[in-house]
Amino acid sequence: MSHDINSIPHRRYNILTGEWILCSPHRTKRPWQGKTEKDTTPKKETYDPSCYLCPGNTRSTGDKNPDYKEPYTFINDFSALLIDSPMATQENGLMKAETEVGICKVVCFSPDHSLTLPLMEEEDITKVVKTWKKEYAELGSQDNINYVQIFENKGAIMGCSNPHPHGQIWSQMSIPTEIEKKSKHFKAYWDKNQSSLLGDYIKQELEAKERIIVENKHFVALVPYWAVWPYEIMIAPKKHQQHIGQLNQEEEKAFAEILKKLTIKYDNLFETSFPYSSGIHQIPTDGSDYPEWHWHMSFYPPLLRSATVKKFMVGYEMFAGPQRDITAEQAAKTLQNLSDIHYLKQ
Ligand SMILES: [Zn+2]
Repeated sequence: MSHDINSIPHRRYNILTGEWILCSPHRTKRPWQGKTEKDTTPKKETYDPSCYLCPGNTRSTGDKNPDYKEPYTFINDFSALLIDSPMATQENGLMKAETEVGICKVVCFSPDHSLTLPLMEEEDITKVVKTWKKEYAELGSQDNINYVQIFENKGAIMGCSNPHPHGQIWSQMSIPTEIEKKSKHFKAYWDKNQSSLLGDYIKQELEAKERIIVENKHFVALVPYWAVWPYEIMIAPKKHQQHIGQLNQEEEKAFAEILKKLTIKYDNLFETSFPYSSGIHQIPTDGSDYPEWHWHMSFYPPLLRSATVKKFMVGYEMFAGPQRDITAEQAAKTLQNLSDIHYLKQ
């Protein structure tokens, strides 16, 4: 006898990490549709004299930001990694440690303190994409930098202390755990099928048309089948590419367009400046070829039902594994039905 798995407790497989997520759709009668509260945050000024990221301001180190007009990057004043740490290892029985070196940078997306990605013009987001490309190439070409992680923490709820539109880039010598996991699954599929794991998944999604939120000629944004966060999204190029350095000018624009459209939908969901952590996963810069890799960008937003109701990873999730109630399809449906025009501009 066949059952509709989407109405009974089940677990879904993440093809990229090999991990499982528990889905409990029977706990929600139907997707939550409306909002319960308005965002009452006062409108931000375009310049804040106390912001350490605004043009012309002096940071805590005494360094002064230039009067920048386009995306501006600098070495993080409180870098988690340092490039000149001495190489050392320690092995003491079962206790093992080694030096990690790296370079951490901050990327100001815009000189305008009041903006966020969804409120920026598409051509200005394209400049951010170009900056990511440049930093990926430059940092990745340095000795001892074998991986470059581009990411953004947006919103106080994500631990982001400054509302000025910005992201970070941490680059380092070792290959991080998440990348190692994905490399393993990309490689195994490539060796077996001579084909891109994520590329084949995207083809299946484009046929199913169930979880796709935004799409253009070069990119697709969708709620992954195995999503953990309530409104998790993945943006991926339709073409098999290993890193953002391979984007041509038309693709840079297409990426910016999809970033804007997606983040507008996010803000419209709860009519708030939607918090998330986003990051780009792409190939290591260790000089090896990774033909099996298909780069992508993920958004992990914590909000569940309103601007203040957040999903917590506690209890079962801390000790066993991630769990969700609304299915990826329900989340996709809610996001699909949202306007493409930002609520502040409606
Ligand atoms: Zn600022």
